[in-house]
Amino acid sequence: MSSQNEGVFHHKGHADLEAAALPDPGGFDAHTHIDIMGLPVDGVLAAASAAGIKRVVNVGCDLPSSRWSVSAAAEYADVYAAVAIHPNETGAVYREREPVLAAITELAESPKVVAIGETGLDYYRDRSAREVQQAWFRAHIELAQRTGKALMIHDRDAHEDVLSILAEYAPWPPYSVIFHCFSGDVEMVQQCAAAGYVMSFAGNVTFKNAVVLQEAARAAPAQLMLAETDAPFMTPVPHRGKPNSPAMTAYTIRYLAALKNIDVTDFCAQLQATGTRTFGW
Ligand SMILES: [Zn+2]
Repeated sequence: MSSQNEGVFHHKGHADLEAAALPDPGGFDAHTHIDIMGLPVDGVLAAASAAGIKRVVNVGCDLPSSRWSVSAAAEYADVYAAVAIHPNETGAVYREREPVLAAITELAESPKVVAIGETGLDYYRDRSAREVQQAWFRAHIELAQRTGKALMIHDRDAHEDVLSILAEYAPWPPYSVIFHCFSGDVEMVQQCAAAGYVMSFAGNVTFKNAVVLQEAARAAPAQLMLAETDAPFMTPVPHRGKPNSPAMTAYTIRYLAALKNIDVTDFCAQLQATGTRTFGW
């Protein structure tokens, strides 16, 4: 271990993270926001790598964070990018939709952009009108289909509308649609699996009261699963309540493997195969 990452990896309370470090072939963080963490990127990536998390997808929520993601991907070999306007941010750019969409479209052409996201519908927060969110969701869907990049979906309290809008654009090639921070039940797992959608589980699956989500993760086909942090949010057990970091994907991956009764090395290999199919890296 280099002295450079010791500060991040060995700080108090992270001895158990060293114990959770994944065996080869390791994992990756399918959805994170290093720009919101406010920490040096080098240290965050070194800590992740020490935990066996070899790659991250940094996800844009607006134009500045999409630009940040693309430039971080250009600078760091282990960083890949997703670009889009988050449903909660669509209201803020309502009047400048054309130039903002043109800028996102241009960013989407960058070689290390592996997904269009995060996009979708958020009916939990009412920061943007539903019709505005839906219009942006459709624009992002068309961009994903045009560029052949994956579509990374944020779906909060909007399962029905997300699924029905996606169905309008069917058939989707396998591994081209990802539900980030999957929040459905077993029935939705079955709908997603039938359509070939990928389900990405975040740290909230480890929460003690997340029984419905745990049942969903148990039911999900392993080959359609990813793991992510959504850092700095959604910190998994045993660090729930503290800021999250891509390194902590290791806890969620170990938790999911145990939940599904799959050997952690085999589960890592499965995640790597799904990551390659989904992101094409
Ligand atoms: Zn996110």
